[in-house]
Amino acid sequence: MRAFPCPNCSRLNHFEVRVCPGCNATVGFDPAIDAFRFLADAATVWRDRAGHTADVVVCANNNDFQICNWLVDAASATPLCQACRHNRTIPDLSEPSVPVRWAKIEAAKRRLFYSLIRLGLPRETKAQEGAGVQGLAFDFLYDAQAEQDGNPKIYTGHDGGIITLNLIEADDAQRERIRLAMREPYRTLLGHFRHEVGHHYWSRLIENDPAQLDAFRAVFGDEREDYQQALQSHYSDDGSKIWTDDFVSYYATMHPWEDFAETFAHYLHMVDVLATAGGFDLSLATMPGQDEGLAEHSAFDPYTADARALADAMGPLAFAMNAINRSMGQPDLYPFRLSNAVVTKIAFVQQMVTTARNARSAPEPEPHAVAA
Ligand SMILES: [Zn+2]
Ligand SMILES: [Zn+2]
Ligand SMILES: [Zn+2]
Repeated sequence: MRAFPCPNCSRLNHFEVRVCPGCNATVGFDPAIDAFRFLADAATVWRDRAGHTADVVVCANNNDFQICNWLVDAASATPLCQACRHNRTIPDLSEPSVPVRWAKIEAAKRRLFYSLIRLGLPRETKAQEGAGVQGLAFDFLYDAQAEQDGNPKIYTGHDGGIITLNLIEADDAQRERIRLAMREPYRTLLGHFRHEVGHHYWSRLIENDPAQLDAFRAVFGDEREDYQQALQSHYSDDGSKIWTDDFVSYYATMHPWEDFAETFAHYLHMVDVLATAGGFDLSLATMPGQDEGLAEHSAFDPYTADARALADAMGPLAFAMNAINRSMGQPDLYPFRLSNAVVTKIAFVQQMVTTARNARSAPEPEPHAVAA
């Protein structure tokens, strides 16, 4: 995402900021205006950059735990912000290692929700669940056993709109150990959220829509393939599955559901990275030997761009970012390759998102008078 200016002093700040380092104003992000608001000079009402006030309050998770920097409409039915209201289980905060890890988890989750909001995806809570409409909720769990022997007993995953995350994933050393054991090029909290919410959107937007389901199967294969068997064969390491250019990651080779979740996550990676680059007006040079890069740079909006345009923009930018990381002795920022087959899968995801956004922004049908 783009960096946001402080509404008081215009300094560019990170998305996680709660007190502007430039002017010491208290700041909070208001998704309703896609910008930060501020409190300064003893003001008790939140103002935007132009000085306009709004009847918003800090998310209850900030009042109670100092863990969230989002604002919520004072008239909202819930005191929790658009990201925090989906929490079903928060971890046991009396455990000393937990508060710091939970804060990292919530910060990653807010970045996830920022993308979901900007993309216009539906975000029902469990309380708003209805026929064919699955709500989204999170369980963040402390796994005492994993702390002792390093073997997680609680698995990060998705089931029926509930995303479970083992708190151990917020411990950098443990997550890196798991990443190496799994031979993954990339493992982050944000990546977990983007992957797991991909499973949720499969249920929410594809599973109950016959046309979408057919289109999904044509691109990703038949998800009725035995999942347990696929899981076993994936981890048995019998060499039957290899990471080819047809898949965005090795994990995606396991089963069509995982392929979709990995591709959905990848779509969010690309959109967010390109929005960030665009926010800094980074010029995206063409690769040597290529004639055209981002031709219409100024008109490029990653939140609505199609998959080909995203991939074309990503190529030179990813190469440059990897080169920068290598010059700091860091691993590649973007350890992936966008083949045509992967771009075709991303195109399916991008079209699914567009369809969902258009369906939500369509005017509500006029309420009919019900005949007695
Ligand atoms: Zn400031
Ligand atoms: Zn919140
Ligand atoms: Zn998965």
